[in-house]
Parts: sequence; structure tokens; C-alpha cells
Amino acid sequence: MSQDKHVYFFGAGKAEGKAEMKRLLGGKGANLAEMTNLGIPVPPGFTITTDVCRYYYDHGKTYPEDLDKQIEENLAKVEEIMGMKFGDPSNPLLFSMRSGAAESMPGMMETILNVGLNDETVAGLAAKSGNARFAYDAYRRLIQMFSDVAMGVDIEFFEDILEAKKKDKGVELDTDLDVDDLKDVVAKYREVIKQKTGSDFPQDPMNQLTMARNAVFGSRDAARAIIYRRINGISDDVGSTAVNVQTMVFGNMGDDSGTGVAFTRNPATGENEFFADYLFNAQGEDVVAGIRTPIHVGELEKAMPDIYNQLREIEEKLERHYNDMQDIEFTIQQGKLWMLQTRRGKRTAMADVRIAVEMVKEGRIDKETAVSRVPAEKIEQLLHPMIDVTADAKIIGEGLPAGPGAAVGKAVFTAEHAVEMAAQGEKVILVRNFTSPEDVGGMHASQGILTATGGMTSHAAIVGRDMGKCCVVGCSGITVSESGKSFTAGDVVVKEGDIISLDGHNGKVILGEADLIEPEMSGDFGELMEWVDEIRTLGVRTNTDTPAGAKRARAFGAEGIGLCRTEHMFFEEDRLTSMREMIVAEDEAGRRKALEKLLPMQRQDFIEIFEAMEGLPVIIRTLDPPLHEFLPHGDEEAEELAKEIGVDPDKLKDKIASLYESNPMLGHRGCRLGIAYPEITEMQARAIIEAAVDVAKRGIKVIPEIMIPLVGHARELELQRELCEKVAKEVLAEAGVELEYMIGTMIELPRAALTADKIAEYAEFFSFGTNDLTQTTFGMSRDDAEGKFLQAYIEDGILEGNPFMSIDEDGVGEMITIATERGRKTKPDLEVGICGEHGGDPKSIDFCHRAGLDYVSCSPFRVPVARLAAAHAKLRSDGKME
Ligand code: PEP
Ligand code: MG
Repeated sequence: MSQDKHVYFFGAGKAEGKAEMKRLLGGKGANLAEMTNLGIPVPPGFTITTDVCRYYYDHGKTYPEDLDKQIEENLAKVEEIMGMKFGDPSNPLLFSMRSGAAESMPGMMETILNVGLNDETVAGLAAKSGNARFAYDAYRRLIQMFSDVAMGVDIEFFEDILEAKKKDKGVELDTDLDVDDLKDVVAKYREVIKQKTGSDFPQDPMNQLTMARNAVFGSRDAARAIIYRRINGISDDVGSTAVNVQTMVFGNMGDDSGTGVAFTRNPATGENEFFADYLFNAQGEDVVAGIRTPIHVGELEKAMPDIYNQLREIEEKLERHYNDMQDIEFTIQQGKLWMLQTRRGKRTAMADVRIAVEMVKEGRIDKETAVSRVPAEKIEQLLHPMIDVTADAKIIGEGLPAGPGAAVGKAVFTAEHAVEMAAQGEKVILVRNFTSPEDVGGMHASQGILTATGGMTSHAAIVGRDMGKCCVVGCSGITVSESGKSFTAGDVVVKEGDIISLDGHNGKVILGEADLIEPEMSGDFGELMEWVDEIRTLGVRTNTDTPAGAKRARAFGAEGIGLCRTEHMFFEEDRLTSMREMIVAEDEAGRRKALEKLLPMQRQDFIEIFEAMEGLPVIIRTLDPPLHEFLPHGDEEAEELAKEIGVDPDKLKDKIASLYESNPMLGHRGCRLGIAYPEITEMQARAIIEAAVDVAKRGIKVIPEIMIPLVGHARELELQRELCEKVAKEVLAEAGVELEYMIGTMIELPRAALTADKIAEYAEFFSFGTNDLTQTTFGMSRDDAEGKFLQAYIEDGILEGNPFMSIDEDGVGEMITIATERGRKTKPDLEVGICGEHGGDPKSIDFCHRAGLDYVSCSPFRVPVARLAAAHAKLRSDGKME
């Protein structure tokens, strides 16, 4: 290593680095080199590589032996170009020293400006700029930053001194302090340093440079940077920083100076217009920190037309060069323009799509590149009305943004009341501590759902997303009193009927009616999605159990229904009583009687769904949850039910008690219901086939697929299949209709995955229920993991992230791979998909593509996200995307 090149020069139109060298030079260093090579005016300097950072940490915080020599050589080159000397008392060269890793980690590592100022050079800077106040302010800033970062003196001491000075002078702003005040502040700063460290502020510029370099490299392992890397999944290697040592230029040297931040296109809308914030006589941080309100760049055009034109030429050149929208920083020092940074500009989803599509039309990039540039996760933003974040809003709480979009409505605290008020035409938001299956009707009737507890895969979150409802969960700052029909957030009390708004994009809860903006389903979006469909090979279906959901998903491009959960249908008002009657019946005859009442309603449900999905496959799952979920909870409700269905209240209560399970997730649910009570499966199979016959007779093409849940043993499926086939045969014979249908199973238990070869003998399709498969593979309940121990597991590095959101490839993924392989060995044309929540998660979709699945299925609003993620997966597997 010691013979290697550790330092890369840039300046005077020539650089040793280039844009592709991000890993070695960091993003900032690589782009400074690239800009220099493009002939763009960049203050000269040099980049100490990220490899030096790696060496530093691998060798007990020491450096390669010839590093100092290389630094000196490069420094001399800068001096030559600038015609100035580092440490020259009459015309001092000063440096900024900035961190910059391969992956951008905004604000996580250190920067020190004005390196090279000391008691002598400050006078030179004063003379040269003709502004002593400016020079001493720069010196003050150096001492403050340097001592904090490189000498470990708490910044508070300096802030206290500055505050005391302002108070003493009776002024409010730093800018109101004069040169003598600043000289005094500098003296006091130095006293504090001596007191706290026993050392003086270093006067030797070279010594400053060395200490600043150590501090920047050292900041890689500052606690906040380590946490940031862990949260964002950035390795120490990728997070290793370069040190960019660059000639200082000043935007605060008078009215012919200034600084700005610009985007080559509008980052909010994507419109192709130059977009800049500019301040005269200011430093870069003044723009970013928002201390002063920047002016429109048009003012710059008026004041300095030549500079403005030069800036426009450069921004166009940069955009054309990188073929992407750039975020650039520039400084004008005494009438000369300098570029300090260029990088890919961050933008909204709307801008992402528009820029990508327009760049294809401008002939700059191809369709595959355009598709690869739009992040899948973000496009869901385009599908829902959104809270206008620019409007004034009183934010009273913040939870997890579980369901997309925005909602405005009156707060209600019970599902029943939500249904009642919605029936009267009111818009409501259901507020609960948490939701359970019996709230589904109320959730459906609401504009949005707010819960005080729960995570991203809690009931409220899953059902909310499935319904496309705006949903904020785990809003721990609110206290909900369901009996008191109110919630409190700090000192705000929201009572039933008070209007609140939810922002499903960032989890904010707003008091009153927030302003909404309708999303524009612009032509660009549609066009991009056509390209997406040309690229992807993985199918995309939807999870829904309503005709409205089916229609919406179809409009979003779903190619079928991957999961219709029938249980939600039984919670609706008109069915719940019959369902309960069936559950508490003494014997099979009693159950059959109740099931007969449910049959026509269930059939009608399926007819409407088949109609909505005409010509596309529809997977309908037989009943899955434990039966007690449908039963009343309190005595009062039980008595009411007893009266309604004409049974003895005590007997009913005993029956309800007998259905209690200590571990319902592993209890009497899934196909175990249909094994114990075959008549339930029979009724559902009949409803499905009769509905299919009904629509087929009307010339509507229908492709029903019956899915059996929670199968762990081939014999379970064999038995359920026999039942379904028997019913289907009867129905088809009665109707005199021929109809193709399929029978398959969920794979959501490890035993099912391992015995998939045997199970496949009775299945035409598999669908991975990765919600259950994750909990059963880990032996970890999804409802209990979040909010209890999951965070500790992630922080301790046991898990990379929440396995209920992104598939655990090593464990659950292996189950999927094994099951797919074994299943297809028995039945090569077995249709294999996934319908757990992971089906809408881009990372998991990438895995599904690699695992060779036929399709993913997700909630309607995730369908476009999944289509895009599937295209990304294909591009990645073809080596066309990172
Ligand atoms: C699953 O387990 O992944 C699944 C889709 O079923 P449910 O979430 O309804 O248990
Ligand atoms: Mg399941």
C-alpha cells in the first residue's frame, strides 16, 4: 500500500480522478474531478482516498508512510495554480476540508472550513479582501469548527462566548458584531481551548491540515455515523470517507459575491426549468440553513448577466454530461463563478417519473435506464390524494405511515359508529388503540384509520393498506379513550366529531381539515408503466376481497387476484349473525342450516369479483381465522346474540368459552376448520363454482382458483381437494356447464415447504403465505415481535430489518426455494406465487424474481409498485441495474 497513490489532484482543467471512481474518491471527490476535467471552474484541490481511510482503521489509526509526502506535493501544485501560498501572511491560501464517502451520508461526517488561518494570515486575508470584519469572522468560524471537531472542545463553550458578546453589545445577530468584537471573541475562544485541552489553538497551517485530516477520517466512526450506516444498511467499507482538501472561495466578500444551490430541473414537478436559490454576500450554509430567505435566480440574472449565463451553460453541460437532473452548489467570489459540487438531485416521485420519461423523449437515455431510475417504493405517492405539506397545519401527533394517501374526517372511536356516520354521508376517521377483525366494517366505512399502537404489519396496517385506506399506526403520542370517545395529544383533546387529518406518507396527524392535492395520473406515468411491463417477467396480482378493490387493482395493472380472503366478507352486518349461528351450532345439521343462509351472500360476493376481474385468474381462499374471532366478546353482546338466534344464553356463553384458545395463531384455523367441519369448505366451494357458472353463462370469462390455507400435510390437502372436486362436479353437472378451475394451497408452514413434493400431488398451484411462513419459520408472532423485541434484534445486528416487511432470504427465502423446487419436481407446470405482505415489498419482489416465482400478489395500491419492482428485478438479474 505504501507505494500506492493516496492523493488525487484536481485543478486548472485537469484532474487525476473521474466520476466512475466514487468508491476510491467518494461521491464528492469523484464529481469534483469530473467537473474539473469538463473544464468547469472548480477551486483546485486534492482528494485523499477512501483507501487511506480503510488503512487508517485497519492499522491502528496510522497512515501509509508516504501519505504526507504526497499531500505536500499536491499542496504545492495548488499553490502554483493559485499563485498563493499556504501560510503566507500577505496572501494566504486557505482550504476547506470535507468528508465524502462513496454513498452520500448527509451531515454525518465532518467538514472544516478556512483551514490555514492564524494570527498572521488573518491579517493578510483582511488586507486582501479589504474587509477585516470578514477575515476575523472567518477566523472565528475556523477556531470554533476546528476545536469542536479536531480538539474535542464542546461547541457550547463557543456558543456561550458569542452569545455573551452579543448580549454585552446589545445586538441580536452575529453580523452586528464589529471587527473588534470578533477579535475579542477569538481571544476568548483561545482561552477556552487552552483551559479545556491544555494546548493552544495550532498556529502552524500544516499542523491544522494534519489535525483536520485526522478529524475527518475519525468522524467515520463517530456514533451518529455508525448508527446512520446501520439504519441505512451501508457497510463500513462503503461508508469509508475520502478527505477533499480544496481551495476556499468566499461568497461573503461583498456585493459582487454570493452563493447558491440549484437544480437543473424542478425537483418537485420535474419540469425542465432551471431552479435555484441564491443569496448575495453569503456563505453556502446560509442558504441551506434557511437563515435568510434566498432570492429568485432571476435577480442574479439582472445583477450579473455574464455570470448568470455562465452558470446556465455549466448547469446544462453538467446535466447533459451526467444525463440526469443535477443538484449543484456554486459560489461567486468577487465576480468569479466557482462550482463546488454536483450530484444527482433528490426529487419527488412526480419529478422522478417526468424527468425519466422526458429524458427518453429527448433521446438522452433509453427506456430501461428510465425505468431503473424511478424508485419503486416512491411511486405509490402518485396514486393517492396528498396532504398539501406547504399549507399551514397543526400537527398533533406522528406515527408510522402504514397506509398511503391522506384522509380528512370526523374522529370516531368505534367501528359501529363509523359505519353509522358513514351511512349518513359523513366522512370519518376511525381512531382506536388497535384494530381487530371485527373493526373491518368500520375501517371500510372510514376515510382513514389511526391507531395508538401497532407496527407496519399490525392488523390495522395490513387491512388499511389492503383497502387502500390512509392509515397511521403506532402513534404512541396519543392516548385513546374508547369509552370516553376522545383522544388526547399533549394538551389537545379531540372528541368524537372533531375533524382531524392524516398524512399517510409521513405518519402525521393534523388537527382540523388539511388541504389536499389531487394526484395527477399524468400521461408520463402511464407511459413509464408501459415500459415497465415490457421489461418485467414476473406477474403481478392483487390481494383484495371486494369488487371495488378488484376494479381499482385492475386499473392499476393487476393481472388477477392472488388472494381473496373470504373471512372479511363474514364480518359484514348482514352475515355476521348467520356466521355466529354456524359457529355456535350444536351439530352438523345446525351448522348446515346456518351455512345455507350464508351461501347466497357468499355466491353474490364472488359473482361481483369475477365480473370485475373478467378473464383474469381469481384465487379465493377458504376460511382461515380461528372461529372465536367472529364471536361476541362481552356478556351483553352474547345475550343479544342468544336472543337473535334463539338459543339459551348460558349455553351460548359456555360454547363461546369453549372456543377459547391459548395460542390461536397455531390453533384451530386454516384447513383445520375444513377438516373438522367439512361443510364449511363445501359451502364455500359451492359458492365459488356456482358464481363461476353464473358469470360463465353470461359469457364472462372466469378463471377460479380455490386455495386451501395453512396446509402442513399432503393428506389435509387431499381431503379438502376431494371435497371441493365433489361439489364442483355436482354444480357443473347440475348446470350443464364445463368450466376450468384449479385447486391449490397456501404454503405457510415449514412442514408444507419441506414436503412440497408430496403436497404438489394435490395442488395445481402454490401461494406462499409469507406472513405466516415468517412467523412459523422464526417461531415469532408477528403481532408480538414489533414493538417488543424486534427493535433490539435489529440494533444488535441479529436481524437486518423487520422480516415481516422484507423477506428473510436465508431462512424464509430458503423455505420458498426448497418448496418451489420440490413442488415443481412433482408438477413441472405448478403455478407458484406469493400473497403475504412481502408481495408488495420491492426487496422481497427481487428475491421472488430470482427464486423463479410466477407472480407476486399485493394490495391494490401496491400493484404499480410491484410492477416497477419486478422490472427492476429483471434489469438487475440482467446486469443492467445495480
Ligand atoms: C400469509 O400468511 O402470508 C397470508 C397471506 O395469510 P394471512 O395473512 O391472511 O394469514
Ligand atoms: Mg396466512
